[in-house]
Amino acid sequence: MKLIGLTGGVGSGKSTVAGILRELGAAVIDADEATHAVYEPGTAGFEAVVREFGESIVRDGRIDRERLGRLVFNDEESRRRLNAIVHPLVREWMAARTAEAIEGGAQVVVQDVPLRYESGLEGPSCSVVRVYAPEEVQVERLVKGRGFTEERARAVIGAQLPIDEKRRRAHHVIDNSGTPEQTRSQVEEIWAQMSGR
Ligand code: ADP
Repeated sequence: MKLIGLTGGVGSGKSTVAGILRELGAAVIDADEATHAVYEPGTAGFEAVVREFGESIVRDGRIDRERLGRLVFNDEESRRRLNAIVHPLVREWMAARTAEAIEGGAQVVVQDVPLRYESGLEGPSCSVVRVYAPEEVQVERLVKGRGFTEERARAVIGAQLPIDEKRRRAHHVIDNSGTPEQTRSQVEEIWAQMSGR
């Protein structure tokens, strides 16, 4: 069994690469899904967040994440308190789904994790695969493919960690500045190494 931590900035092509890996047979565990799951009503995360931030963040029985986001946006201390609750639960959720995938017989498990969680990727056996595209390409794809305004794309990218610095830490870097076919062949090459063929 091989564990891959897949990471990359917004618009780098991380979801595209995750899709190719899934097609090739990997079990993909998505941190985005985890960050939603930990707020679900009835969970320990829901209880802890409401205890910390009050009933005013609950709407129709669910945590109003937009409101919570606004609450912590300009307040480093509340952001720190929120992260202290949510990050361990996200890691726990990821670990539990990973264990299930392994028990289910998955030979390659991919943890699809945004940049800010990169340092928390599971275990020493985890190979970090980083999807990279130059900032101008990220902006262009977010505008064309996701309907972002250029300003918003630049702001979202700018809010992430400096990419070139992080790039050095990965075991493999997939350069997604070219065509989808060029990206696919890089993924297939890494897949062949990972799955021992
Ligand atoms: P991420 O998950 O890193 O935010 P996506 O995989 O969603 O990025 O890619 C962002 C956008 O760019 C999507 O619309 C996707 O279809 C497009 N895209 C990704 N890779 C390529 C590529 N090599 N060539 C052209 N468009 C691409």
